Amino acid sequence: MRIHAIQTGEVQIKTRHVESRRNARPARVLDVLTDRNWAPRLPISAYAIEHPDGLIVVDTGESSHANDPGYQPWWHPFVQTSERRWVEPHEEIGPRLQALGHEPAEVGRIVMTHMHGDHAGGLSHFPNAEILMSAREAKMALARDGPANGYLNGHYPGWLKPSPLEFDSEPWEGFEASIVLTDDGAVRLIPTPGHTLGHLSVVVDQGDHLVLIAGDAAYSERALLEGIVDGVAQSAEHHRDSTRRLRELCTRHTVVVVPTHDPDGPQRLAESQATAVPGR
Ligand SMILES: [Zn+2]
Repeated sequence: MRIHAIQTGEVQIKTRHVESRRNARPARVLDVLTDRNWAPRLPISAYAIEHPDGLIVVDTGESSHANDPGYQPWWHPFVQTSERRWVEPHEEIGPRLQALGHEPAEVGRIVMTHMHGDHAGGLSHFPNAEILMSAREAKMALARDGPANGYLNGHYPGWLKPSPLEFDSEPWEGFEASIVLTDDGAVRLIPTPGHTLGHLSVVVDQGDHLVLIAGDAAYSERALLEGIVDGVAQSAEHHRDSTRRLRELCTRHTVVVVPTHDPDGPQRLAESQATAVPGR
């Protein structure tokens, strides 16, 4: 099963956003807002899984309008002062998929790891798709107070009606629940709360190894291995618990880890380069 990493431009965030040094969320966010140091630009990735049942797209990247004047809400200090984005129109997920030979209008299923703007910004390319996300994420992202919690839901397409997923089915590995997405069992969703409370990750069984499409469960392979919590995570405690479970998975299996913002993720994916966990 071929999996494509699709880069939809770049984002730049503060060093204390990449790696926080406080525990409580208000202290972490304040630390990011007052940080003067920008981390290097990072890729914004989405993924396309060429499954025999049909193409499955994981996340949709950022919109090329993200830097238009007035696009980001003026009253939102975080998006105004603590994030920068570079996305050209041809870098949006729609044209990227077309370049790979896939018509966006024919995509049947989109899986959202979570609903932050750099993951949901390309949803408008998929008006005919079923948009899957955890029930918790759907509720929080579409809530009236969503923007205050980091969900700029005014940018979501007006037609968006997510298919909410309840993680109430079979346990899998170290996870209390999981959802099998395909009849052959090769694509599975697991709850990885922390960055957002409804965050999920996607595990693809490639036979001799697993590919973990980790979204923002950790910003990089290193963050996953070291349990580094990001500056805006809704829950540091859940974040650490999720990366611990993911490390256990990497101990028991050969796992290729591809987080959204890890510059080395696409190369690891192309080379099926597994994550080396100490003790494996
Ligand atoms: Zn995010």
